[in-house]
Amino acid sequence: MTGPTELAERFGTPSYVYDLDRVATARDDLLAALPDEVEVFYAAKANPHPDLMRELRTGGARGCRAEISSVGELDAVLEAGFQGDRILYTGPGKTTEELSEALTRGVRLFSTESYGDLTRVGEAALKLGLSADCLIRVNNATGAAATGIRMTGVPSQFGFDSETLPDLAADLRDVPGTTIAGLHFFPLSNAKDEASLIAEFRHTVATAAALQDALGVTFRFVDIGGGFAAPYGVQGERPVYGELRAALAGTLDEHFAGWREGAPRIACESGRYLVADSGTLLTSVVNVKDSRDQRYVVVDAGINTFGGMSGLGRIMPVTVEPHESVGVDGTPASLAGPLCTPGDLLGRGVPLADPAPGDVLSVPNTGAYGPTASLLMFLGRPAPTEIVVRGDDVVSVSRIQHTRAYEPDTHGQAL
Ligand SMILES: *Cc1c(COP(=O)(O)O)cnc(C)c1O
Repeated sequence: MTGPTELAERFGTPSYVYDLDRVATARDDLLAALPDEVEVFYAAKANPHPDLMRELRTGGARGCRAEISSVGELDAVLEAGFQGDRILYTGPGKTTEELSEALTRGVRLFSTESYGDLTRVGEAALKLGLSADCLIRVNNATGAAATGIRMTGVPSQFGFDSETLPDLAADLRDVPGTTIAGLHFFPLSNAKDEASLIAEFRHTVATAAALQDALGVTFRFVDIGGGFAAPYGVQGERPVYGELRAALAGTLDEHFAGWREGAPRIACESGRYLVADSGTLLTSVVNVKDSRDQRYVVVDAGINTFGGMSGLGRIMPVTVEPHESVGVDGTPASLAGPLCTPGDLLGRGVPLADPAPGDVLSVPNTGAYGPTASLLMFLGRPAPTEIVVRGDDVVSVSRIQHTRAYEPDTHGQAL
């Protein structure tokens, strides 16, 4: 048995445990929730661990493709075995150097956020004697779903504003070094429920069809985004979507007659849904202290380990599963990390009975937006250990290292 307590003893804390069986189940659930013809891009940003990405890539004939937005992520997905032609490069700040690197290493599909971005991709491709397939990312003026993390409809560094996009049609078609392959949408993250997700996809597909007419380009590829939800650092189940497959197929039939034959190819994207519930964060109690009327349980995982996405000062509603002696019915405590900032709080009002130094706690559903989305270097502690298991077997143990490449300037007047 490789239970959390045993793993914590063997490999120390703070540590993340990721179960590849759960990654595979999430991948299969998502693929089953989508029509067979729809491809899925895994957003490497959610967790670039090579073992997890390899698991997502090799899901039989319908293994995931990879979505990246940096050279670091490019390294990671190539290491995980993704070929250049399976990769989509996105992001609002793609530099000429990064683009050249990505093109040189085989990436041909880019999402572009503005006319300037598109021309930069074109210049990089031309210099290498290549042509890049570009998706026009759309910042849709309107959306459908009521909640979730909305990414669209407001001024943004992401995407072309949909209302003025048709005016640019002629310019977009003529950028040397590029071909407009289609559109990219990412209107929301972590949708509230399946109905919102379906409504948003319907809206996106209808918008894509209208833009195809307005732009006068026959799309080869339409990436309609994601929004697939998963609990984050709290107890709960990842939803399994039962209605989406038929609803999405119906909408696509209505707007893109050839989609089943790949004209255009349709893709979705996901990060959290695919990996969040594979992960558990293990942390040890270092100290318990009462201050005035408040109990502080100080643990060895702070915002340097988990919670970077939330930024300083935003407390996540983490729940904790205690092991062995620690019960959950005690005095609500503040769960504090080890960092020298009052902002290092993982949770407030966490009920823990008799916590004591050395007790191991676990935070569930932490496979997405963990170490690489945290303030890893703040206060100089080592990155958490990352333990990959498949069921009861340990597959790998690793830790991200951060080092300074330092060179004194021997010619300078002063340091
Ligand atoms: C972050 C991001 C994703 C992944 O989002 P999740 O909510 O983790 O599924 C997908 N696509 C784009 C463009 C993103 O920026």
